[in-house]
Amino acid sequence: MRYVQMDTQSDPESVTYPSTEKQKELLKLLVNELKEFGWNDVKMDEWGYVIATIPSNSTKKVPVVCFCSHVDTAPDCSGKNVKPILHSMYDGSDIILPDDPSQVISLDQHPYLKNKIGDDIITASGTTLLGADDKAGVAIIMELAKYVKSHPEILHGEIKLLFTPDEEIGKGVDHLNIQSLGADFCYTLDGGELGSLESETFSADGLELEIVGVIAHPGAAKGKLINAIKLAASVIDLLPKNELAPEVTEGRRGFLHPTDIKGTAEKASIRFILRDFDDRNLDAYADLIEQAVKSTLASFPHARYTLKRTEQYRNMKTVLDKYPQVVDLAAQAMKNCGIEPVMLPVRGGTDGSRLSFMGLPSPNIFTGEMALHSVQEYVSVQDMEKSLAVLLQLIQLWESTGK
Ligand SMILES: [Zn+2]
Repeated sequence: MRYVQMDTQSDPESVTYPSTEKQKELLKLLVNELKEFGWNDVKMDEWGYVIATIPSNSTKKVPVVCFCSHVDTAPDCSGKNVKPILHSMYDGSDIILPDDPSQVISLDQHPYLKNKIGDDIITASGTTLLGADDKAGVAIIMELAKYVKSHPEILHGEIKLLFTPDEEIGKGVDHLNIQSLGADFCYTLDGGELGSLESETFSADGLELEIVGVIAHPGAAKGKLINAIKLAASVIDLLPKNELAPEVTEGRRGFLHPTDIKGTAEKASIRFILRDFDDRNLDAYADLIEQAVKSTLASFPHARYTLKRTEQYRNMKTVLDKYPQVVDLAAQAMKNCGIEPVMLPVRGGTDGSRLSFMGLPSPNIFTGEMALHSVQEYVSVQDMEKSLAVLLQLIQLWESTGK
């Protein structure tokens, strides 16, 4: 509740790193608190990354495991003057947020809360997000750091703690030096529902189509003008409507999705995103778009087009499959805490997908954060406590694999 009161919103328009200076205030606070707990090897680097080392207390050689969370909050919703409210022993009735009583957190809208009756629920006050994404993760990792200091009987290998800025604007690991972090495996603490263990994300590409028509004065355009806007509209019209679109797709099915269109009669451009769990399907989606363009332009030999495809991120399962122990031990840690792991593929990306491809396999563990990026965001304190319990199991399981 202390951390969420600090405004750490990131800014996609910014050209600095971190994108907003205010994120460093929380990052500095974390450095100081970790030192107060008694951990001395804690640094914030020039980019704002905070890295702390908890030395091994085991006689065995154990892989170095890192826990990571991001300090920034999403630009979609205000993160200024967040007033967290603790609803002790939630009884299942509507939670009316006091600063905007039209904001009501109800079981109808948030069915997950049905399992949280009796828990202590934290919400914001109605005009801002809460910032449990990802300060729930930050708090869980900080509590872990504090707990292991006062419980030397818990055996563990070397542990790295990593706090990052700018995750919400897709730049969370842009300047991270993986070598100097020195971890073998990592877990991001940025998942939602109790038990969620995410090891599979979308693979993602962007595709930009530009169509150039032929311009002419409309008063004398007969037989000459080729209107690029109409060509663009035709391309969109030819794309699948009842399949392969996000509005008709769920589970493991991917999609192609126009996100932006602009143009004049002379020139029009459309931006697409392509998403699938299987990289090969991204090629198929790019082909579908190109086919639609070609068949549109077939009767207009004087019109031209270009297609530019860029890789955005890749399904981290490809990497994690090579190190099955990373996910297996996390699942085992949950079971040891009486929690059934829920391993659903993520229809999006995480910092973990990028970390995995940078050489640091990084599945995502639940924190309890829910209704992200909205004024109705909430988190159950008991979910956070269970996440901490899982981490304590996990570090001991890793220690037991040492030799
Ligand atoms: Zn997050």
